[in-house]
Amino acid sequence: MRKHSLRTLPKLKDKAEKIFHKWICLRDNYVCFTCDKTGNQGGHFKHNRLDFDEMNLNCQCSGCNHYRSGNLSVYAERLIDKYGVKKFKDLCFRANNQSNKFSRDELEQIIVKYTSLVQSQYDRTKF
Ligand SMILES: [Zn+2]
Repeated sequence: MRKHSLRTLPKLKDKAEKIFHKWICLRDNYVCFTCDKTGNQGGHFKHNRLDFDEMNLNCQCSGCNHYRSGNLSVYAERLIDKYGVKKFKDLCFRANNQSNKFSRDELEQIIVKYTSLVQSQYDRTKF
């Protein structure tokens, strides 16, 4: 049982990331956060513990996310414009001060929460 759980935790994280990134792109109308072109990827500002933080992830195009490695200087500026310096500093603080492990329960809750958000977004835009 324990062995089985350990083996599938990364798969659970993959699944949670997939649905979370989909939600981020829907929320952002598929507009890249750092260059305003069309995007379809969940772009991180910080990695690890903030992988499922709605402020830390924004829609990005592959140009910014991969080729410009997140386009982080623009990313930082735009986060500050959008949220203010205080929240931006708080985000950096949270990124540095928390463990980067997610429990099975946390991942399962993320999957349930964002699956339902994605679904409700699709229902709203159905025509
Ligand atoms: Zn871009």
